[in-house]
Amino acid sequence: MKVLVINAGSSSLKYQLFDMTDERVLAKGLCERIGIDGHIKHTPLLDGKAVFDEDIPLPDHAAAIAIVLEKMTSAESGVIADMGEISAVGHRVVHGGENFSASTLINDEVLAAIEACIPLAPLHNPANITGITACQAVMGDVPQVAVFDTAFHQTMPGQAYMYALPYNYYEQYKVRRYGFHGTSHRYVAERAAAMLGKPLSELKLISCHMGNGSSVAAIDGGKSVDTSMGFTPLAGLPMGTRVGDIDAGIIEFLMGKENLSIGEMLGVLNKKSGVLGVSGVSSDFRDLEDAVLEGNERAKLALQVFRYHVSKFIGAYAVAMGGVDAVIFTAGVGENGINDREAICKNLGVLGIELDPVKNQVRAKETDISAAGSRGRVLVIPTNEELVIARDTREIIA
Ligand code: ADP
Repeated sequence: MKVLVINAGSSSLKYQLFDMTDERVLAKGLCERIGIDGHIKHTPLLDGKAVFDEDIPLPDHAAAIAIVLEKMTSAESGVIADMGEISAVGHRVVHGGENFSASTLINDEVLAAIEACIPLAPLHNPANITGITACQAVMGDVPQVAVFDTAFHQTMPGQAYMYALPYNYYEQYKVRRYGFHGTSHRYVAERAAAMLGKPLSELKLISCHMGNGSSVAAIDGGKSVDTSMGFTPLAGLPMGTRVGDIDAGIIEFLMGKENLSIGEMLGVLNKKSGVLGVSGVSSDFRDLEDAVLEGNERAKLALQVFRYHVSKFIGAYAVAMGGVDAVIFTAGVGENGINDREAICKNLGVLGIELDPVKNQVRAKETDISAAGSRGRVLVIPTNEELVIARDTREIIA
């Protein structure tokens, strides 16, 4: 069975085609600048097939899907004989609100429920919906499955998801913590159990997904019991360009001082803050490390702020779960940031967790980097959200 995985953004569309008989990726690619002009990079992973990387008009997402299918089946860069080989499409959907605690087959009712979540994720859900409707338009009756970033965190108890606001805001508007990156946290938790040779149901895990966007999750017995992102993905850790948790009082104060509208203020909090804001250098952690080597003090401070907050969340979640068996590092910075991991783990001895600085010299490879005598483990686990989406899709249409 072949499954196409789609991650649609407002002007982009990432895709991977899986052969689920052996979970192999046959081709992957990225359409960019959709609705502007258009560019596609299609990479077949079969021998003798050529990469296609060119500007090509992409007026909308349906045009992008049509080109993807054409490249997937073409003589030069194709990996399947015809579109009929694709049994189903799995879509990443950012926000499922309280409606979805698991992946689901898309029908009109489900699509309406995803639309109803647009106010909760105004930047992401419309793009995800566009991806779904474009596939429906181009691929007809091929089953489509939605896999939600929020679903894994629906197991959080009320004490973790309630904001201490007047209760009617929860009742009327569903203002609560939802959490994101759920597909990634779920995948690495399952891999951690496999690496440790223990059932997930017996493990207390803290998963640190550290990329451009970052979140930490407390996973007790395989269930998310708390996570650092909130009502939106703006909350929790300081990130590449996002502020993370701040005193809400700052917002009105700065709007007055800088004469900013609420839209402009949110732009600052989403796009000009985080490690970029503190450093003034970059949102990219590699650039920050380079700047530190050149003696840039603000780049150093930005990294310190980020790492400090990750370790604080680890401490908090260890207490929340009454223990921790393993800390997991994943995503771009988690998988590659050797210095980040070392700094974050510096004080975890108090939790019985110690990193081995030599084993820590690893990038993007499943590795136990704990010190020999460490009671709890420290694991590097490359995430694979696309594989989770493909697996869920296979199970749902089976
Ligand atoms: P996204 O949230 O967009 O999926 P990624 O998970 O791809 O992000 O992470 C991107 C981040 O990973 C960037 O800040 C990048 O600097 C960082 N990263 C990638 N490789 C390395 C590396 N070798 N060392 C430190 N950070 C890295």
